[in-house]
Amino acid sequence: MSDVSLETIVSLCKRRGFIYQGSEIYGGLAGTWDYGPLGIQLKRNISNLWWKTFVEDRDDMYGMDAAILMNQKVWQTSGHVSGFNDPLFECDNCKNRFRADHLVEAWVEKHPSEVEKIEHPAYNQSAATLNDYKNLFKMACPNCGKAELSDVRQFNMMFKTHVGAIHDVTSVSYLRPETAQGMFVNFKNVVDSFYPDIPFGMAQIGKAFRNEIAPRDFIFRVRELEQMEIEVFVQPDTWRDQFDTWLELQKQFLLALGLPEERIHQVEIGPDDRAHYSKHSVDTEFDFPFGQKELLGCAYRTDYDLSKHQAASGKNLEYRPKDGGASYIPHVIEPTFGLDRSVLAVISSAYTEDEVNGEKRTYLKLPAHLAPVKVAVSPLLKNKPELVAKAREVYTVLKKEFGAVMWDDNGNIGKRYRRQDEIGTPYCVTIDFDTIEGDTKDTVTVRNRDTTKQERVSIDNLISTLTF
Ligand SMILES: [Zn+2]
Repeated sequence: MSDVSLETIVSLCKRRGFIYQGSEIYGGLAGTWDYGPLGIQLKRNISNLWWKTFVEDRDDMYGMDAAILMNQKVWQTSGHVSGFNDPLFECDNCKNRFRADHLVEAWVEKHPSEVEKIEHPAYNQSAATLNDYKNLFKMACPNCGKAELSDVRQFNMMFKTHVGAIHDVTSVSYLRPETAQGMFVNFKNVVDSFYPDIPFGMAQIGKAFRNEIAPRDFIFRVRELEQMEIEVFVQPDTWRDQFDTWLELQKQFLLALGLPEERIHQVEIGPDDRAHYSKHSVDTEFDFPFGQKELLGCAYRTDYDLSKHQAASGKNLEYRPKDGGASYIPHVIEPTFGLDRSVLAVISSAYTEDEVNGEKRTYLKLPAHLAPVKVAVSPLLKNKPELVAKAREVYTVLKKEFGAVMWDDNGNIGKRYRRQDEIGTPYCVTIDFDTIEGDTKDTVTVRNRDTTKQERVSIDNLISTLTF
């Protein structure tokens, strides 16, 4: 478990311009969050690293950006219309609805002694087990306290909408619940355009939408989320090797985000808890402030999706090997990454408190390559034109070199350092009177976020001193 509380992270994110509640001035909209200037920069830095690692640096990966709205047949065929459900209990008394698996899990965690007393089935997420637990332990409604919870009902999590002016069954569409299908329906296009060797992959970053019954834990469980997904098309008998390779690559990516290895856990998902399309799944979980939870997933989707789409569309989705062998439908390994969850993991593991000169200090120990602001530049005093002019010169040079450089002349220098520490800026550069005259002319102070040490560096060497 992480030692910082989620409330502390939420409060820092709002105060410093990382993440705000969605539609906040109207009281918010549950399960939605808005990224502010620093949040979007951090998120971009993470997704750009992902794109570079898995698309640009490889020669077997094809990037994609498919439309969010798709023909409803896609979701009928993929099984999402009938099977993309969450189990819920409804209270017959107060009519509130609860995620059944969450309610049972929380109850079992809270009442270990009662669970020991009664003989009960092994826990999984099937409706039958959830009903058993609810009935055996006479679980009550968390809202009104009456033990009048219904048996499990399946609640479809897709947001439904209509395309065009006529609202009837033919115009139904959905906000996509995963980006994957956008790649499966373009499989034939990519093969026709590039005729890649197998194995090859398709990769996409984009929004997905899930009507969660109970969004919670800040940007962890939300109704609008961003995914980074890869579909790797493989020969059927090589799936296991490919699966293990990608599982390891997923972990390597988390390490590149600076997440501590001891907080990363790979957990195999049992048959009853897997998604409907998966034959083997391993989640990579992370110690978030609210416990060990899923950050990434890796699933063996077999030929489920391509076979179904071939049958439903009547289009041939087989791959024709270049050596003249028999055509076949490739199997799929799917490493998927939650982008919002990655942001949360990065911020909560970077959050650090220490003491400097007897005072408590809070800072984000972000890896420099992810920091939303690389360098802050300040004139020591903002009412001295000669300092401001020189600082502007330095700022312009650094901005041209590093891009994400912030001008900061608000408050005294101590306040600026505290502010930059809290947003994880690796370096603060200050222009003072020693920059303008004397033996130290044309030198500046560079202050290091992690050590708080300051050194004088000549402006000519500044760019090479600042390493990211
Ligand atoms: Zn109730």
